[in-house]
Order: sequence, then structure tokens, then C-alpha cells
Amino acid sequence: MKHYDGIALFSGGLDSILAARLVMEQGLKVKCLHFFSPFFGHPGRLGHWEKEYGLDIDPVDVSAEFVELLKRGPAHGYGSAMNPCVDCKIVMISRARELMQEYGASFIISGEVLGQRPMSQRRDTLNAIRRDANVKDVLLRPLSAKLMDPTPMEESGLVDREKLKGFNGRGRKDQLALAEHFGITEIPTPGGGCKLTEKENTRRFWPVLSRLDAPTVNDFRLADTGRQFWMGDFWLAVGRQKYDNEIYADLLRKDDLHFKLAGFPGPIAIGRSSREWDSESVQKAAALVASYSPKAVKASEEGQRVGVRVTQNGQQSIVYITPSRESEFAEPTWEAARDELYALRKPAKKTEEQAEPGLE
Ligand code: SF4
Repeated sequence: MKHYDGIALFSGGLDSILAARLVMEQGLKVKCLHFFSPFFGHPGRLGHWEKEYGLDIDPVDVSAEFVELLKRGPAHGYGSAMNPCVDCKIVMISRARELMQEYGASFIISGEVLGQRPMSQRRDTLNAIRRDANVKDVLLRPLSAKLMDPTPMEESGLVDREKLKGFNGRGRKDQLALAEHFGITEIPTPGGGCKLTEKENTRRFWPVLSRLDAPTVNDFRLADTGRQFWMGDFWLAVGRQKYDNEIYADLLRKDDLHFKLAGFPGPIAIGRSSREWDSESVQKAAALVASYSPKAVKASEEGQRVGVRVTQNGQQSIVYITPSRESEFAEPTWEAARDELYALRKPAKKTEEQAEPGLE
């Protein structure tokens, strides 16, 4: 039977390290939970973090919950890119609440700092997160606790409120001093790590969410790998390197179109859509895939036929094309994604939400 006093949300960022250590310093037993999905998290770093920061960490896969959140649309809106920070926190803390019993824990620790983020760490938003995640009586924010009403854990004496902090605002001075107090020398860089805060990834992910009927975790992993092209709601992902091809092999679904050059070296590509592919669209996709094979391009210029093997549902055919980059399949842009995302915003919150850089 596991027994921890508290479970801590652990992103790998400095605030999450300090929040856990501050509670541990009181002699309480803390299990850190590192949430990961295709968009954030580094479960491969757990061993390093445990050693470096003296923590006990378990990975928690929240991919499915997170994709469901994106599909239904975040109730509290997006940040500067495709990051739904407030709803993300609610998903993670709700999951932590479900895990409390498994870890024998009586409270949850979160490293949020009042006023550190314009959208997701305002006082009203922190209250909304606590309310919507149903953790009113069990959520402790050790870094800003002294600026908030005492929690039941403090009132009962389980946690010594006097040893908690009253950090406020965007500066990191207090955090760095506390890190020094704990002898922490490897200071994580602020703000790094969540792909949803980045333009490059938003341009890849947004079409998946807006153009597929029922996006899955697999879709977002595919969007994160190789070159991305869209023609309406036909999606073509073209591997850029050997490593991409290995990932594609793992992600390939039976009803995907699998493109591979016949007789020439070249990339692997996956065609995916919520509707049936017509032969003209398959031809256009095959021509683009072949354009990434220099040998196929040269052979075509010398008058040789170039074929691309297309496999779907176990049926294979060869499509003959002229390799060409001039295609109706185009790479999705950040600007197009941004315009659609910003159109979803509630006007009253626009200025603050645009400034939200992410919570890591
Ligand atoms: S920046 Fe942090 S809080 Fe915001 S969506 Fe990404 S992981 Fe969630």
C-alpha cells in the first residue's frame, strides 16, 4: 500500500521543483507526478530529475484526456498560440485528484505562483482552476500560500503555513534564492517545453484539430513528425529522415494511404483524411512525395517513368506521376492557424490572453 502525504504536479520547471521540495522540507512524503502527452512532458528525463533534485517522480500519460480537451475546445480559451493553459491545469489537477487514493495522499501540490502569468495565474483564474478541478479542500500552492486563504491542510497542522511562501509576480528572484537554499544548481530555463505555445507546432497541430472529424493522439503524433501538407481536408505527411520513417511505421493505420517510391530511394509518406481519397488527389500527393527523391526527379527529367507504390487497407497499386513541388498540397502556416484561433477568443479577454506565454 503506497503512502504519501502529498502528490505534486511536476513539469520539470523550477516552480514545480521548489513547491515539492518546500513541502518535503517539512518532513512530509511527496510523490511527484510528471504529466506527459504529444504536446508536453519529457518522461525520458525522470531518472535525471530524480537524481538532480532529490525527488520521487512517476510519469502519467494524459494524452487521451488532453486530446479530448482540444476536441471539445477549452472553456477558458487559448493563450498566445494553441496552449489552453487554464483548462490544461484543470485536466492535470483533476487527474491528480483521481490518483490521490492510489498514492494514499491527502493533498495535491502545485507550483503555481500568483500573478506570474497574465491569464492562467491571476487570482480569479487560480480560483477557477481550484473550483473546476474539484480540489477546493485539497490543493496546496506552497509558493504563494501566504497570499491565499489557509487550506484545510494548513488549518489542521498537517502542513506548517509559516514555512510556506508568499511569492507573487513574474520575477524569479525569490525562486532563485529558494533554489540556492535547497542547493539546487541546475536551474531549468523558464517557459520551455510545451509545444502548444510555439508557432511552429501550432501550425502543424491546428489543421489536425480543425480539419479532421475525430482527431486522435496518433494524429497529433503524426503532425509532429516530418513535413506536413494539406489540400483541403486531405493530409499528407512526408518523412524527412530515417527516424521519421520509423515513427510513421508505428503510426500507420490500415485505412491510411502509404506512399513509397517504386524503384527509387525516397521518403515514406502517409496520406490521411476523414473522407475517401479520390484518384486525382492521390496523384497530386504521389507527385509531391516523389519530388523529395532526387533520383526520381532526375530519372523523370531524363524521360523515365516514375511510379509511387500506394497501399491502403492491404491493397497496393502503382501511381505513375511526374515529380513536382508545384502542388495544391501546401504546408500549413502559423498565420492561418493564428487567425482561426484568435477568431475563437472572447473579445473581453483578448488582450490578456494574447500575452499568455505558457505555464511551464
Ligand atoms: S504551457 Fe503548460 S499549462 Fe499551458 S498548455 Fe502547455 S503544459 Fe499546459
